[in-house]
Amino acid sequence: MEKTICENGGELASSCACRRRFCLDFSGDETLVFIDGHDDAILGVAEVEGDTRVVYDHRAVIRRLMRRDGMDVEGAEEFFDYNIEGCKVSPSAPIFLRPC
Ligand SMILES: [Zn+2]
Repeated sequence: MEKTICENGGELASSCACRRRFCLDFSGDETLVFIDGHDDAILGVAEVEGDTRVVYDHRAVIRRLMRRDGMDVEGAEEFFDYNIEGCKVSPSAPIFLRPC
């Protein structure tokens, strides 16, 4: 079990809602699509052709799958491709940033 403390809320990062709250505050009444269980991988929001989309740190999502669910890198990448990125294909789908 991860015990990282959120730098914003002072709560456990895995259960802290501050990043999600930031996105919701920004978007107002626009609909946002989140990935449940990965709030601490949220980097922020991006506006793409009129739609507001939540931006996630791809690496942080993979890391969480490995740590929380005991997957190896290949398993986590595969799970991500099929079950996370692959099933979110709307104009307001999340963006997964691959930091260099
Ligand atoms: Zn927080």
